[in-house]
Formats: sequence, structure tokens, C-alpha cells
Amino acid sequence: MIVVCKYTAADEELQALQNWLSAKGVSFRSEENAGRKLLLLEGEKLPEEDAILAFAAVEEISGNGPAYKLADRNAKPGRSTVKVGSATIGDGGFTVIAGPCTVESAGQMETVAAAVKNAGCTILRGGAFKPRTSPYTFQGMGAEGISLLVSEGKKTGLPVVAEIMSAAQLPLFDEVDMLQVGARNMQNFDLLKALGKCGKPVLLKRGHAATLKELLLSAEYILSGGNEQVVLCERGIRTFEGATRNTLDLSAVPALREMTHLPILVDPSHGTGHASFVKPMAMAAAAAGADGIMLEVHPSPVDAKCDGMQALDCAALADTVRAVRAITDTLKSL
Ligand code: PEP
Ligand code: MN
Repeated sequence: MIVVCKYTAADEELQALQNWLSAKGVSFRSEENAGRKLLLLEGEKLPEEDAILAFAAVEEISGNGPAYKLADRNAKPGRSTVKVGSATIGDGGFTVIAGPCTVESAGQMETVAAAVKNAGCTILRGGAFKPRTSPYTFQGMGAEGISLLVSEGKKTGLPVVAEIMSAAQLPLFDEVDMLQVGARNMQNFDLLKALGKCGKPVLLKRGHAATLKELLLSAEYILSGGNEQVVLCERGIRTFEGATRNTLDLSAVPALREMTHLPILVDPSHGTGHASFVKPMAMAAAAAGADGIMLEVHPSPVDAKCDGMQALDCAALADTVRAVRAITDTLKSL
């Protein structure tokens, strides 16, 4: 760790910092660089950065690498792959997860699951516990919704992913292959800690107003609990733009590829909020280098209990997947 001191630091201020470090038993060397003092701290157990920054003499701390040590691109040589049942995310293929926003009935799930399978998608999604903005809107079918999703997964042979909202729900997710943390829970640290111990792959969605660094620090909570199976998902962020539900930040894909080894998915459904914008942004996500996408589908979007505006119908799902495959095939020949 390198502590960069201010040009203007007074001798007593510098002395106060050095006395404090010595009293803590921290060994350090001091150097001069372009007229200011640098303290090079050595050792395994260094003081908290915030404590050092509290000294009047200190300008900044550098040379410490990112705070997300395990998610950091340099934490390992290659890129991570995450296995979800029979599907693998991040192995160079392009994963398509699809399904309804919310599980509504056995019939709806049966129709959607067949369409998802026929379109060539490899993971089935469906929410049963929904984080709705208003408490007066449909909150999901709960445990019954999970059973319907799991049973359609078994019938079609597709692994399933569903959103979990609290650690207390974990026993209900025994047969769910991948646990989704929604945008609203990206910084629910107790949930993230529990998922660090759950032994299942986690799909971590970016919060509405979260920076990529914050997303990676949330991933770090899961990784540092011992669970390496984390997949990130860009799902749009809140901006001043009102023509789309969110602003799908596709530049997050190449940025995250530089910052982390974790696989990266894109959700163009929540990212745009409009069914007709989903196909172009799904194709763009593939072109941007994502490891896959997640799409919302409903047999009859106008009848959906949640997020109907952004849901593809079954024919549009097949058409979108076909177009995305055309992009991924083209990318292979570039
Ligand atoms: C969802 O995937 O159904 C969902 C609620 O997404 P987000 O958390 O990104 O809003
Ligand atoms: Mn939704």
C-alpha cells in the first residue's frame, strides 16, 4: 500500500501519521517523489484505508488494487465459467435464459417452457417472489410458483432460475438450479452473505443506481463466503431518459470484461421496458461481448400480471433467438 501525502502537509501532520503507524507496529519506508512524501507500507495486516485517509497529511492511497479482490480480473488467469445444471455460462458460447417475469399458472408455464425449449434457450426463468414497487400489485405465487417452475424445468430438461428475496426463503429453493438476486436486493448484504454459503450458482443483477464497482463489491460478498459461482447481469440503470424504462448500459459489458473474470449477462427486457426494443438490444448485447442474455416471455403479453409491456410472445422469442444466433455466428468469423 502506498500512502501519498499532500504537498502542503505540515511536518507535524506527517509526524502524526508516522507515529500512529509505528504505534500500530506497521513497517514502512518513506520516499520523496516530485516534492511530496510517499509512505510505502509493508506487511499482511495493514490498517483500514479509511483510518489512514482520516489523517490531515494524506492525499490518497494507491497501489492496493481494487477492493473486490476475488472478483478482480487479475485474481485468476482465465475467465470463470458457471455451470447451471446442464448449461454452462461463460465458456465462450452464448447462453439464452428465457421465461415469464412471473409464474402465473400451470398452463402459462407449460406454454412458455415449451416455447423456451423450442427456441433453443438453455435455462428457464420465472419469478415466484416478486419485488414489486407497489404493495398493491401482484406479489407472485410464492412457493406454489416455485413448484410450477421446477416441474416445467423437469419436464423440458431445462435448469431453472428464480429470484430469491431473503435468506429465509432458501429452503423453498432446494430444487431451483440458480438463485437470482434482483436489482432491488443487490445491496442486501445479509442475503448476499447467505448466498455465499448456499452452494448454488447466483445471478446477481445490477442495482438501479449502482456503479460497476458497487456491483463487483456485491459479487465479492458472495465470493468471499466461498461461493465462486457468480454471474453478473446488466439490466439497465436509472437515468433522466423516459422513453425507455431503464437505460441499458451496454458499455458495462466491455468495461466489466476488463474489471472481472466473472461471466456477464444482459437483460434487454428490463433494460428497455418495451417488447419491440428487446430484439435489437439482445443482438447488441451479443455484439458487445456478453456471455448471454435473459429474456421475458409470455404467451399473451397483454394478459401478463407483471411486466407485460416488455414481454415477448412465443413467436417473438423464437425470432429474437434466431437473430441473436446470427450475430454470434458472425462474431465467430471476425
Ligand atoms: C426480474 O428479473 O424479474 C426482475 C425483477 O428484474 P430486476 O431485479 O432487474 O428489476
Ligand atoms: Mn420482470
